[in-house]
Amino acid sequence: MLSVVPASVTVRAPSKVNLHLAVGDLRPDGYHDLRTVFQALSLHDQVTVAPADTLRVEVRGPDAASVPTDSSNLVWRAAEMVAERAGRTPDVEITIDKGIPVAGGMAGGSADAAATLVALDALWGLGAGRSDLDEIAAQLGSDVNFCLHGNTALGTGRGEQLVPVLSRGTFHWVLAIAKDGLSTPVVFRELDRLRASGDPQRVGDADELLHALGAGDPHALAPLLGNDLQSAALSLNPALRRTLRAGVEAGALAGIVSGSGPTCAFLVDDQRAAVEVSAELSGAGVCRTVRIASGPVPGTRVVDPARS
Ligand code: ATP
Repeated sequence: MLSVVPASVTVRAPSKVNLHLAVGDLRPDGYHDLRTVFQALSLHDQVTVAPADTLRVEVRGPDAASVPTDSSNLVWRAAEMVAERAGRTPDVEITIDKGIPVAGGMAGGSADAAATLVALDALWGLGAGRSDLDEIAAQLGSDVNFCLHGNTALGTGRGEQLVPVLSRGTFHWVLAIAKDGLSTPVVFRELDRLRASGDPQRVGDADELLHALGAGDPHALAPLLGNDLQSAALSLNPALRRTLRAGVEAGALAGIVSGSGPTCAFLVDDQRAAVEVSAELSGAGVCRTVRIASGPVPGTRVVDPARS
C-alpha cells in the first residue's frame, strides 16, 4: 500500500493551570519534589510542521518577539530528539502560533514541545506509541508529559509522573495575563528564600480538591485551589495582589496564581459569569489582557484540516 506523506501537520497545544501545587523543600540536587493537580485549558498554541531544507522555527502572534527561534526554543530540542530516534535529520520548519502567554506559568513552551513530538510523529509516519513519546517528553521538561496527555491529572516527581484524575463537567476560567513574565527558576529560588526566613503557609493535601473535581462542583472547588508558588510570585510582583483582588470583586469564585505566574486564573460559575468577570477585569486596568478559557480539554492532538 502506498503511504501518503502529508505536506504539513498542525497540532493544537493546550495550556495548563495548576489547581493544586505543593512544592517540597529544596533537595540537595537543586530540584523540588512536586505534587500537583493539573487541568488542561482551551487557551492554546498551534504548532505546524512541514518539510524544509533545514531545521527552522517561526513564531507568530502578538508575543512572538519574546520567543526565541533558535536552538533555545524547546521545540528545537524536541525535533532533534524525535529525529535522532527515527534515524533521520530534523529538516522541518516549525511554525508556532502563540495563544498562550509567554513566561506566564501556563506551560507555553512545554505545550509547544509536546505538540512537536505529536506533529513529527504524524509527519514522518513513525507510529510511535504513547510510551515512546512520554519517554522523550520527560527529558524535555517537567510539564511536557502533562501537555501530551491533557485533561486533569495528578503529577508527582518533577510533575512528570502522571495519574489521570476524574473530573466531571466543564469548569470555566478567566485568565488575567500580566505585562511582564516571570522566570520559573527565579520563582522557585524566591520560594526557597522565603522559606529560609520564616515558612510561608503551605497547601495541604489534595484529597478534598479531588473530590470536588469528581463532583464537578466549582463552588466546592473554589476554596480548595492552592499554590505554594503563589507567595513567591507575589513577593516578586506585588501588583498581582491587586489583580487577584479585582477578579474576586468582579464576581469570580476564587483566584489563584497559575503555576509560577504571573498569569492569574479565576474560577467562575459558568460561561456567562466568565464573560462578565472578563469585562470587569479588562476595565480594571490590573493586567495586560484578559482571556476566557474552559477545561479540562484533551492534550496535544493533530488538528483535522477539514475541521480547522
Ligand atoms: P511553565 O508554566 O512550564 O513554568 P511558562 O509558561 O511560565 O512555563 P514559557 O512560556 O514556557 O513559560 O516560557 C519560558 C521561557 O522559555 C520564555 O521566556 C522563552 O524565552 C523560553 N521559550 C523557549 N521555547 C519557548 C516556546 N516554544 N514558547 C514560549 N517560550 C519559550
